[in-house]
Amino acid sequence: MSLFHRKYLSIGLGGLGLILCEVAFAEIIYPVVTPPVCINNLGETVSFISRPTNRSQVAAGMANRDSDGNPVIYRVSYELATPAFQKFVDFHECAHHQVGHVDQPHPPRNSYDHLMNESIADCVAILRVREEDNESYRLVIDGLVDAMTAIGFPKTSTDSRISNVNNCYENYGSSAEFIEGVLNSERAR
Ligand SMILES: [Zn+2]
Repeated sequence: MSLFHRKYLSIGLGGLGLILCEVAFAEIIYPVVTPPVCINNLGETVSFISRPTNRSQVAAGMANRDSDGNPVIYRVSYELATPAFQKFVDFHECAHHQVGHVDQPHPPRNSYDHLMNESIADCVAILRVREEDNESYRLVIDGLVDAMTAIGFPKTSTDSRISNVNNCYENYGSSAEFIEGVLNSERAR
């Protein structure tokens, strides 16, 4: 148990930047959506926990384990993002649980492995949008572009992220198949 706990503590400290993935600036307050179903690669149900912060100007999600080792997604200031983009952030953070990123050592920020993990999570997320909320696709893309631009990412970063999301949406099979492929390639390593 103590080993278990220590591992998460280190992930928690190192990972704060890592899994704080999605942000959106907004002045409008939106209703917060009901979280989607999220079950991780070990069959554990992931809990969504709202963390409103009165000084935050961004909506963000963070995938982690809590101090008891339970898989969780913290939702911060979700009311600042459109419902469509809230769902995408939920799906994206859930994907980090579904493919086991949460339990892996954290790759260095902006390393190839880090960017690959983000691309995988984006891909799963947009496939779930296609499966569960397809009519919001355009709003999700708009939300991504707005958020990345507002945060100050260079246009090339935004373009490559959108390109990945688009490619997954247009060309990939189901989210379940994609997740299975990722898990298989991890087992083969
Ligand atoms: Zn992420």
